Amino acid sequence: MSQLELRNLRKEFTGGGESVVAVDDVDLTLNDGEFLVLVGPSGCGKSTTLRMIAGLESVTSGDVIVDGESMTDLEPRERDIAMVFQNYALYPHMTTRENIGFGLKMTTDLDSEERNRQVEDVAESLGIEELLDDYPKELSGGQQQRVALGRAIIRDPEVFLMDEPLSNLDAKLRTQMRTELKALQDDLNVTTVYVTHDQTEAMTMGDRIAILNHGELQQVGTPLECYHQPANKFVAGFIGAPSMNFMDVASKNERLIHKMFDYEISEATAQAIEGYDRVTLGIRPEDIRIVDGSDVQNPIPAEVHLVEPLGDVSHVALNIGNKRFTAAVPGGQKFDRGEEVTLHFPEDSLHLFDATSGQTLK
Ligand code: ATP
Repeated sequence: MSQLELRNLRKEFTGGGESVVAVDDVDLTLNDGEFLVLVGPSGCGKSTTLRMIAGLESVTSGDVIVDGESMTDLEPRERDIAMVFQNYALYPHMTTRENIGFGLKMTTDLDSEERNRQVEDVAESLGIEELLDDYPKELSGGQQQRVALGRAIIRDPEVFLMDEPLSNLDAKLRTQMRTELKALQDDLNVTTVYVTHDQTEAMTMGDRIAILNHGELQQVGTPLECYHQPANKFVAGFIGAPSMNFMDVASKNERLIHKMFDYEISEATAQAIEGYDRVTLGIRPEDIRIVDGSDVQNPIPAEVHLVEPLGDVSHVALNIGNKRFTAAVPGGQKFDRGEEVTLHFPEDSLHLFDATSGQTLK
């Protein structure tokens, strides 16, 4: 078990007179055995961060520290870190047994009997003992992914780095491997950084998640902290599916004012946004109520644009004036296109952000 620290880790790429800050002074500490998911949209700097930890990319400034010792100037092979890639990177001319055992052969002087024993143990833990004599081209995507994991596990590293390891699998297998991988990491208890752009993967797998945008860390917290108390509008919109709905409103005399409605807020909410005459209101689809009639506090008139029934829930696209919102409602509720409805946004579900900076106010 090991602690991994990233201290003001920075990467600037320069070329053709231009400079791109791919990773902007990221500061992060992973506890022993923690599974941390680094998540963010394409190009936010996830892979570059991972590659700097692995030593595959030089750092512009900052430090990568494992158990108090700086790794920053060490070659990749001198770091006790194993990486699992998206494309598996298996040797095509080697069997499963040889692929998993290759690292041991190169870095230890174990005899072949002991090597084989370890390979078989790892294969058994991954449920691929039947595939030991097969070549990669004879394996399915999920099986190849297990072999790639086996190759990382057998090294018994201090840190695992995983770069979108499930993204080449079909949706069903991805969900299954997500659970298996998480259970495996729990058993092995190896400190892990897992990179994905998929917020569902982040939410379901991470002990904590670190959300990155334009190279900057936006928030680090448990999945539920990031969901319930997003640090800013970016995190609020990125975590949760369908995404949080947003609209800008004026704020005056304990009211949120939009051309379609006038929402009376409590004193506590008014205090949280004191001094702001414009704020961004956010509400999650699952927090919107579609109610009968307008006999409700702070009614909001809307028109049903489209209904997407998914079985247990339906996603309802709504127009509030010319603003499109999505509500997630119990599947039994029926609506027609063009139907006029009334919405209720419970005040304790409202998120309010500084309309300029996006920082969370409430
Ligand atoms: P994705 O999910 O698409 O892989 P990412 O979050 O992993 O994206 P990075 O690959 O780390 O993002 O890239 C971060 C930024 O750095 C991007 O703007 C990218 O264009 C830039 N970048 C990455 N590698 C290089 C490079 N070798 N030279 C120049 N710019 C680079």
